[in-house]
Amino acid sequence: MTGSGTRVALLFLDLDRFKSVNDTLGHLAGDELLVEVAARLKTCVRKSDTIARLGGDEFTVILEGLDAPVDAEIVCRKIIKSLEAPLLLQNHEIYVTTSIGVTFFPSDDTDLNGLLRNADAAMYRAKEEGRNKFHLFTADLSARAVKRMGIESALRHAVERQEFYLVYQPKISVQTGEVLGAEALLRWENPQRGLVSPVDFIPVAEETGLIVPIGEWVLRRACADIRKWHAAGFDHVSVAVNLSARQFRHGELIQTIRQALQDSGIAARQLELEITESLLMDDTEASQIALNDLKALGTSIFLDDFGTGYSSLAYLKKFPIDGLKIDRSFIRDLPGDPDDEAITHAILALSQALRLRVVAEGVENEAQLEFLRRAGCSVVQGFFFSRPLVFDKFLEWLQRTTPARVGIAGNQGW
Ligand code: C2E
Ligand code: MG
Ligand code: MG
Repeated sequence: MTGSGTRVALLFLDLDRFKSVNDTLGHLAGDELLVEVAARLKTCVRKSDTIARLGGDEFTVILEGLDAPVDAEIVCRKIIKSLEAPLLLQNHEIYVTTSIGVTFFPSDDTDLNGLLRNADAAMYRAKEEGRNKFHLFTADLSARAVKRMGIESALRHAVERQEFYLVYQPKISVQTGEVLGAEALLRWENPQRGLVSPVDFIPVAEETGLIVPIGEWVLRRACADIRKWHAAGFDHVSVAVNLSARQFRHGELIQTIRQALQDSGIAARQLELEITESLLMDDTEASQIALNDLKALGTSIFLDDFGTGYSSLAYLKKFPIDGLKIDRSFIRDLPGDPDDEAITHAILALSQALRLRVVAEGVENEAQLEFLRRAGCSVVQGFFFSRPLVFDKFLEWLQRTTPARVGIAGNQGW
């Protein structure tokens, strides 16, 4: 390390999974951990450098007199390495890792707040890259960061402030027009931001871990709601809940689901779970165990957005999947687009051969429905039948369309 340069680096460190230590071993253990981490950080820098704890599990390190960015990279590698040896906390061996964002004065910014924001944005990128990594700030990170930071802080209070609600979109039998169930879709209405799309806030909830309490709320609410439909006479209607990979990693998912089922008194087979392939790619061993547990519980598991990712056929064999949802991007240009027609036929043939259930999502018109019916698709979902509706409206919709059967204007001979 040199000390003669004019460059200053600001490192922003966030401990990965610190919260789980705090939650499982208590705050005293959490404090001990922070003390030990601080001691190890000290061994990685020179006396003249500054280490500060910003609060929670966040630290900053200021390295002065650097010649080149690579000097800061060396320190980052040292820090990551220094945390490799386990910590002994109350007789538990704890492994901590950290994600580090790095920004430079004066080249990235000359203002302290600006530098902190940069380093924070770079730190999030490091987390996205899989944790236990460092990332240097680049300008494109900042616009993204401003948006996601705003979402994050608002999201932190959204559960307690009751800003979430669920909407339901029916899944309909192509053969009989019957409503088989509904997919629960999360909505967030924030007083300042208005209605925020799940496409914008779910990724932030996943990155920050907030998806765990939010997802638990979704499961509980969906199970409670389906109970009310049953009480209103629609006792065959199932509910599908979307799950994020992060919820599987958390480890308490099975317990949460069991509890939600028990509290609402609904049967496990009336709960469907929609997962995405990223979960299967993520951590095959752990996901396989969790999926097997869910299967043993009696819930059904659907692979969402099928066809958009790797769509590895090995997953279908390896994991206990009950069905596939054909992504709406393949349905949109049906009929007429030869590629999408071929893909849809192929997914349907595949599901039939593997005895998987299949749902086509994003059905918006009669021509699409007709194509899917001829192709042998048994369940459909989409705006053609109904947009996602809040609980009361969904119930009204059920009452209106049953037993007259759904959507197809009654003249389709179903
Ligand atoms: P998804 O699970 O694939 O949900 C289907 C999305 O397609 C929904 O968007 C739905 O409103 C929309 N959709 C349904 N029919 C049509 C149609 O005919 N045409 C078009 N253009 N769109 C249609 P939404 O509600 O914005 O949700 C987006 C994604 O956010 C979901 O995709 C899901 O991945 C995620 N998401 C929603 N709620 C939850 C949740 O509670 N937990 C988790 N982890 N993810 C959720
Ligand atoms: Mg879904
Ligand atoms: Mg989908």
